Amino acid sequence: LIQLYIPLNFLGVLYREVKQSITDLDKMFKLLEREREVQDPPGAQDLQVRGGAVRFENVRFAYDPARPILHDLSFEIPAGKTVAVVGASGAGKSTLARLLYRFYDVSEAGGGRITIDGQDIRAVTQDSLRRAIGIVPQDTVLFNDTVGYNIGYGRTGATQEEIEAAARAAHIHSFIAAQPKGYETTVGERGLKLSGGEKQRIAIARTLLKNPPILIFDEATSALDSANERAIQAELKSAAEGRTTLVIAHRLSTVVDAHEILVMEAGRVVERGHHEALLAQGGRYARMWTLQHRSEAAPVVL
Ligand code: ADP
Ligand code: MG
Repeated sequence: LIQLYIPLNFLGVLYREVKQSITDLDKMFKLLEREREVQDPPGAQDLQVRGGAVRFENVRFAYDPARPILHDLSFEIPAGKTVAVVGASGAGKSTLARLLYRFYDVSEAGGGRITIDGQDIRAVTQDSLRRAIGIVPQDTVLFNDTVGYNIGYGRTGATQEEIEAAARAAHIHSFIAAQPKGYETTVGERGLKLSGGEKQRIAIARTLLKNPPILIFDEATSALDSANERAIQAELKSAAEGRTTLVIAHRLSTVVDAHEILVMEAGRVVERGHHEALLAQGGRYARMWTLQHRSEAAPVVL
């Protein structure tokens, strides 16, 4: 009986931690698996964010040891600046985002490190790390709860006015207001089914509300139609103003102002620099740029 009790109770705690109601079980187990991959070291301190400078130092990473994904990757996002990452699908862009948010840790032996204001992110509490970072992922997981809860989750204690302001900025307010139950509408498997673009806008609203010092946008507007995309990109740009931002972009028009652009290929940075310099270099970035301007709406393909 005791043996049965302990694991059940343990599971109970985990369930509560993931708010009981992630829209799909498969995703929940993936989340739990990820949580188990990283641990707070004994006596871990909270991250102290000053400017929020992010450094990747000789980072190596593999999901499966037999297949390295990132090879000796180094870059810095100075406090308050934006670094953009572009490159073909599978290059390792989202992996950078997952490592910074610490869903996974860099490889153990000689895997380099990631720091925020000089602190190795493995040395600080995961809670404090994740409080400091807002991420709009490629695929948004919503809780099986009200849409208001799903946005308000960005910041505990947010008022209804604040939630609505964030929803307006993410161009999802009128859609929500048009539902019979408004912000009380349940979303997810057991509620209103949302399109990829609607989920993405909720994730954007959540992140705008959270208002963290460090932002990660992983193809944050990829599921939106072009009119919505343009409008929201302006919001994201103003949110990124003065904040340390990692932008993973599928449209080059969003990266022209970046402090540095990294062009990734198969887990390596193959070109890097400012937009103008990269164009002048006449390499891969320049070819991508030409291709995209030939057909304005085309996503980045290498
Ligand atoms: P991008 O965002 O540039 O499209 P990703 O960082 O998502 O690329 O993926 C980089 C590589 O890692 C791909 O080859 C992908 O198949 C692999 N990969 C991504 N996630 C996992 C995972 N959870 N387990 C194993 N391999 C993965
Ligand atoms: Mg990706």
